[in-house]
Amino acid sequence: MSTPSTRPTSAPPPSTLAPPAARNAATEAATIFRLPEITSTNATSAAARDAWRVFVEQSAGWGKAELVLWSYGLYAPAARFSPVAEKDGVALENLFKSVDARFASRIVKTTRSRVLGELASFAQPGRARAFAERLQAEGAVTRCIDAHGCVAYIPSPNARSFVDRVLALVAADVLSNPQDFAGAVMCEACKGVTVGQRRCCDGVIADAS
Ligand SMILES: [Zn+2]
Repeated sequence: MSTPSTRPTSAPPPSTLAPPAARNAATEAATIFRLPEITSTNATSAAARDAWRVFVEQSAGWGKAELVLWSYGLYAPAARFSPVAEKDGVALENLFKSVDARFASRIVKTTRSRVLGELASFAQPGRARAFAERLQAEGAVTRCIDAHGCVAYIPSPNARSFVDRVLALVAADVLSNPQDFAGAVMCEACKGVTVGQRRCCDGVIADAS
């Protein structure tokens, strides 16, 4: 009888743990998306944050023209290195062809309200991470590595709706820069985005910790 019946159940032998852990690491290394050398995780992270911040801070009152400008000028560059970006040119054109001016304003308004709601909820501990992990599980972001070995997340442009595209930018930022989302990211006084900074106006930045 070779079964070691005296071994504590809470401490399994290392040999049963090591192989799965090693397999996971190998699978991850094989499947992580490699960014082209002309870019870096610094550049993709900055592009994602720039795109969602501009939308949140400037989109009040936007119509179709601004929506199209933002999509091609800020969203598309942030998503262009995604492995599924090839289809995006077509997807963007189709999206806007069928969108009339009133519908565009409504898309902007509902998206803005939804994104502001998510950002405000990040004041609660763990909410930013839970939000980002949910979108990651839905395939809204792609984990990638650059030539320097740095890891970050980029939005996947195969989102079904406009709101999903903006939320994917936020999720990519949360996963790439978790330290910037450890506390509240909105100023309580002016509702301004305070991500990556400690103070805004004279308003108190709610501290969730
Ligand atoms: Zn403020």
